[in-house]
Amino acid sequence: MAHRHNPFRLNVGFVAHEQVGYSREFLFDIPTLQLDDLLLHQIRGQAVVSRTPQGLLFRVYLEATTPAECVRCLEPFEQALVTDFTELYAFSRKQMGESGLLYPESGIIDLAPLVREYMWLAFPIKPLCAEDCRGLCPVCGANRNVEDCGHTTESIDPRLEILKTLLEP
Ligand SMILES: [Zn+2]
Ligand SMILES: [Zn+2]
Repeated sequence: MAHRHNPFRLNVGFVAHEQVGYSREFLFDIPTLQLDDLLLHQIRGQAVVSRTPQGLLFRVYLEATTPAECVRCLEPFEQALVTDFTELYAFSRKQMGESGLLYPESGIIDLAPLVREYMWLAFPIKPLCAEDCRGLCPVCGANRNVEDCGHTTESIDPRLEILKTLLEP
């Protein structure tokens, strides 16, 4: 938990002093990082910081994985996350965007809270270890991805059942 070094803390003061239109790219390749309540692995991507008349515009693209539990088989796995966002750090309150971010005097911007927020937004409501995860057997609880317990649990769709009776002579 004691990750002292925060790679999302960027010194962008020099970009603010450049002419409008100037931009600079920051690349990320971080093996592991704890962002408050979110543990991220294999973070890769970039932030493009551009000087605009209103402030510094950040265009961020990041990929990472985070430990999760499959809703079907309950096994732990690494959930892939992708986020892509644009935020403006305004030079004055008048120029502030919806997010209400202000460019700090120090020229140091910490993207970590935004990254955490956007990564949580990218986290699925029902995480699955695989699209075709076969889940647990409702009869004996066996993980059907790893063993075939022999229970047949193929249930017939009730709508199809009705159709069948209708089609019967
Ligand atoms: Zn699963
Ligand atoms: Zn079973």
